[in-house]
Amino acid sequence: MKACKNCGTKFDESVLFCPICGTNTRTNLLPAAGKEPISVGGWIGRTLIPCIPVVGSLVYLVMLFIWSGNKDKEETFRNWAKAQLIVIAIVVVLVILLAILGGVSASDILDSF
Ligand SMILES: [Zn+2]
Repeated sequence: MKACKNCGTKFDESVLFCPICGTNTRTNLLPAAGKEPISVGGWIGRTLIPCIPVVGSLVYLVMLFIWSGNKDKEETFRNWAKAQLIVIAIVVVLVILLAILGGVSASDILDSF
């Protein structure tokens, strides 16, 4: 007996589609075929990308976009890439907001002269 990964229904291994939710049990049940875990070297490479001067952070941003949408990658890794993008977006918005607020107060000070 195997269980459907989508809805948890138990069924015989010969069943091709889950009788409850219709999920293809072949793609459903093969656990992460071809999805090799990220090696230590792979992680070192990923960690070092943003450390490259000037182009590093840009390349890293592009890579995060690619990773977050790459279906061949582990879901955990895709979620991590998405989380990184969200955090970067929040930081960028905060910096822009602070720049705008700072700019307004600076011009106000200049106007008072
Ligand atoms: Zn199911």
